[in-house]
Amino acid sequence: MRVLVQKYGGSSVKDAERIKAVAERVVKAYKDGWSVITVVSAMGDTTDELIAKAKQVNSKPARREMDMLLSTGEQVSIALLAMAIEALGAPVISLTGQQVGILTDDVHTKARIKHVDTKRLQEELNAGRIVIVAGFQGVNSRNDITTLGRGGSDTTAVALAAAIQAEVCEIYTDVDGVYTADPRIVSTARKLTDISYGEMLEMASLGALVLQPRAVEFAAMNQVRLCVRNSYNYHPGTLVQEERQVEKDMLVVGVAHDTNVAKVAILSVPDRPGVAYNIFSRLAVEGINVDMIVQTNKELNVTDMVFSTSRDDVVRVREIAEAVAQDLGAGDVLIDDTVAKISIVGAGMVSNPGVAARMFEALAEEDINIQVISTSEIKVSCLIAEEHIKRAAQALHRKFQLDAVKSMEA
Ligand code: ADP
Ligand code: ASP
Ligand code: MG
Repeated sequence: MRVLVQKYGGSSVKDAERIKAVAERVVKAYKDGWSVITVVSAMGDTTDELIAKAKQVNSKPARREMDMLLSTGEQVSIALLAMAIEALGAPVISLTGQQVGILTDDVHTKARIKHVDTKRLQEELNAGRIVIVAGFQGVNSRNDITTLGRGGSDTTAVALAAAIQAEVCEIYTDVDGVYTADPRIVSTARKLTDISYGEMLEMASLGALVLQPRAVEFAAMNQVRLCVRNSYNYHPGTLVQEERQVEKDMLVVGVAHDTNVAKVAILSVPDRPGVAYNIFSRLAVEGINVDMIVQTNKELNVTDMVFSTSRDDVVRVREIAEAVAQDLGAGDVLIDDTVAKISIVGAGMVSNPGVAARMFEALAEEDINIQVISTSEIKVSCLIAEEHIKRAAQALHRKFQLDAVKSMEA
């Protein structure tokens, strides 16, 4: 049995016309001889709309209830897609996360998949049916519905592909593949033929929405052949694999930006052992991701602790940070949600000194102030004011000649 997993994002199933178009693609793959598992997201902006609805009744809803609400979006999509496929005369069944055997941990709204029980999936495929699966959802050990974090349908697809040993996992979206920058903000961005798991993981973690970071991590761990393609055409897409094969000499493979960022400062923290542990362990227990961290000594025995986090977590971060500040005898907590993160990514930069300096040069030329910097072997990130993000992305794209290759190719 040759198994193909396809995932269609919200933009690919945004209305009845698109659902019918996707149904045709799925049936085509089925008729080509594949055993097809299709994972779908909620239609269009459904998830955002559901979040807005929740906020209308409670500014801080219980995360268990958020999962109960958000998982409904995907359930609408699977039923409609199954009906559209049925109308084309192909055998099909839709399954929720629970029905398809996706068991997760207990972290509501950001759950991680612990196990996939493929029994039902295997039975349906053996019976010759196309299986349509609700992305983004699973259940915990108590059978409560959990969701996998924004963009989580990508991870559902990869997890199923790994569990069932699919030949390939195709992620269908509204652009032709993975680009050197978000094509919506850098018009000269160029589609990559392929990219390594490591680079893709950085790009995704640094804000390139096109794949959920967890999906890339899962694909790398399980050697899932991942291909990002456009559901609106039949172009070949971008292959995510072990090593970058094409354009091996590219120093910087892409520019990523993230506007879902807030900067948090806890002022005048007593400078003694255990303080950082105290602050960040409390955030970790609450499942809050902290990214860039800087500690600045402004006077003797007192430091300011500055870190970045997701804007989604700001309400909870404020509560925790204020409680910790009080316990430690620190000063005010300041939160700035008008910042954004701009990053360059490339496996080549580890052996090439001066890459970070060129990034800072590009930002200086644009007169953009850098607030916080962080680096790793394959990326450099800067926190800047959100209003400059588009100009920063375009300037870095130019500085690292990511546009230039396009004109050479043309
Ligand atoms: P879907 O609904 O298919 O899951 P998403 O909105 O989650 O789609 O992801 C696709 C979007 O990711 C694209 O429309 C594009 O604007 C954005 N994006 C950001 N960075 C990149 C990149 N480097 N390459 C491709 N797309 C990117
Ligand atoms: N519908 C969810 C979201 O909007 C999951 C996904 O699209 O992958 O984040
Ligand atoms: Mg997505």
